[in-house]
Amino acid sequence: MNDVPLFQRVTLIGIGLIGSSLARVMREQNLAGEIVVTTRREETLNRAIDLGLCDRGTLDMGDAVSGADLVIVCTPMGSYAAVGKAIAKHLKPGAIISDVGSVKEPVFETLGKALPDTVHLVPGHPIAGTEHSGPDAGFATLFKNRWTLLTPAKGTDQAAVDKVIDLWQRAGAMVEVMDAHHHDQVLAITSHLPHLIAYTIVGTATDLGDDLKQEVIQFSASGFRDFTRIAASDPTMWRDIFLTNKDAVLEVLGRFDEDLTELKRAIRKGDGEKLFEHFTRTRAIRRGIIDADQA
Ligand code: NAP
Repeated sequence: MNDVPLFQRVTLIGIGLIGSSLARVMREQNLAGEIVVTTRREETLNRAIDLGLCDRGTLDMGDAVSGADLVIVCTPMGSYAAVGKAIAKHLKPGAIISDVGSVKEPVFETLGKALPDTVHLVPGHPIAGTEHSGPDAGFATLFKNRWTLLTPAKGTDQAAVDKVIDLWQRAGAMVEVMDAHHHDQVLAITSHLPHLIAYTIVGTATDLGDDLKQEVIQFSASGFRDFTRIAASDPTMWRDIFLTNKDAVLEVLGRFDEDLTELKRAIRKGDGEKLFEHFTRTRAIRRGIIDADQA
């Protein structure tokens, strides 16, 4: 841990699972001289104060960001345009504005659009999370050995990008800088489509007749149980993800549909060879994830 904090004052807008995990690791690693938190509801703010997640808390977003060296937006993506408007004129020249939202291209149009030229926008996305929400759900090791992807626009001040890289690395994350559009395409297949499938399967089970539904819950084998965990993720966050990454999700959904039709045909025709070959190929992907320490 360094003696000198990386940033003097950091403001966290929103203090749920991600914001509170950041606050905890920033405290642990001395990444901020002062942490200011702002939330939408007073109840959440009081909880953040009780948990010792901030040095100062306020419901006034403008007041919260004034004088901050780094502002990290940790709210659902549907709130970004309003957040941008509320903070724009209170930002200190030279301040770095970042976020943790799960879709990156729209950040420039929503949050970025309102910001003055005097600040540096460095969007980010930690690929780490759980199905839990709120300030109690966070923990300091959430980002450890997980990727955080940063998607600054071309021409963004390199010193600002480097400082955000430094923050995430000191929080335990592995960091990669990539193009926002590319990020959204990759995440559509690795995260957004699996969530959509989980929401669908659990929804289908919920719509079964009462007897069958009871048995699904009672005898839920690990396959279905894993889906229920994913489908318990925050509805607001996931609504916003599908609304903001619409094109990329629809594109991968189209491909998925085609592949599913092929597997359906193999089952109908009793083509065991095709099924075996497919399952063998996908098993290798799992091994790759384990080898990359991302299991
Ligand atoms: P969370 O636990 O539900 O917390 C959300 C926070 O945002 C709360 O402090 C809430 O304040 C505030 N908030 C909600 N709606 C708001 C609004 N309309 N205006 C202002 N503040 C609002 O959410 P989270 O899981 O930390 O997710 C936050 C962001 O991280 C999302 O953009 C999500 O895409 C991204 N992300 C999440 C995960 C994950 O697994 N959860 C992983 C990577 C990235 P109040 O309680 O006062 O309403």
